[in-house]
Amino acid sequence: MQLQVVGSLAPYPKVDEACSGYLIKQGQTTCLLDCGHGVMSLLGRYTDPYNLNLVIISHFHPDHYVDLHALRHLIRGGMTMGRVAGPVDLYIPNAPREQWEYWQAVAEFRVYTIDPAMKLSYPGLKVEFFPALHPLPAFAVKFQAGQSSLFYTADSAASDDLWKEARGVDILLGEASFLAADGQLAGNLGHMTTLDLARGGLQAQAGMLIATHLWPESDARVISAEIQSVYPGKTITAYSGFSIDV
Ligand SMILES: [Zn+2]
Ligand SMILES: [Zn+2]
Repeated sequence: MQLQVVGSLAPYPKVDEACSGYLIKQGQTTCLLDCGHGVMSLLGRYTDPYNLNLVIISHFHPDHYVDLHALRHLIRGGMTMGRVAGPVDLYIPNAPREQWEYWQAVAEFRVYTIDPAMKLSYPGLKVEFFPALHPLPAFAVKFQAGQSSLFYTADSAASDDLWKEARGVDILLGEASFLAADGQLAGNLGHMTTLDLARGGLQAQAGMLIATHLWPESDARVISAEIQSVYPGKTITAYSGFSIDV
C-alpha cells in the first residue's frame, strides 16, 4: 500500500500546503483519510479525485473535514459527467450530532457511522477504528494490506490503549502538534508533543514514525531532533507531497 501525504499542517495551512489529508492507495482502492483546509486544492496532484472510493473523517474539527464540502461538489459534477458511478463511501463519527445529521442528507456520499467494532474490507485493504483521546469523538485508524500495516493516531492525547492497538505496525503516522516544551498544553487540549509520539513509537515498537498535524511555524529539524532523542528508528516529518510504500 502507498501512503501519500496531501496535507500535514494544523490548524491552518501555509502556501502550497494543506491541513490533514492523506491518501492510502492499494490496488483499485483509493482512500482519502481526512479532508481539512486546502486538501481539495492539492488532491489532484496526487490522484484523480474522481477515482476515490473511500473517504474517512477521523473527527469533525475543521482542519480534518471542511474541504469535504468541496469534495461533495466534485463528486456531484463527476456523477453528472459520468466519471463517478455513484455516491462514494464516507465514514464519519456520530457526533457532533448536527454534523452527523447534515452529512446523512448529502446524496454524493453513502454515509456510515464509525464504530470501533466495525472491520472494513475493501479490495486489498482492511480498515479498523479505535477511539482517540480528544475533546470531540475522534478515531484512530489502522490500515492493513497483506502483511503491511499503517496506524494513524488522528488527533489524540497520548494513550496506552492506542499504542497497544498500534503494536508492531510498519508505520505509525502520529500527531505531534506541539514541541516538547508545551507538554502540559498539549495534554489539556487532547494533543501530543513530539516526545509523546516518540514514546508511543517506542511502546508500539513501530517500524517507522511519521510525525504529522504540525504547527505551520514549527521547524521540521527541531521536531525530528526531539523525536529522535527518544525514538531510535527512522523518523519523517510529514509534508505535502511526501509518499512512501508501506
Ligand atoms: Zn482535532
Ligand atoms: Zn486537528
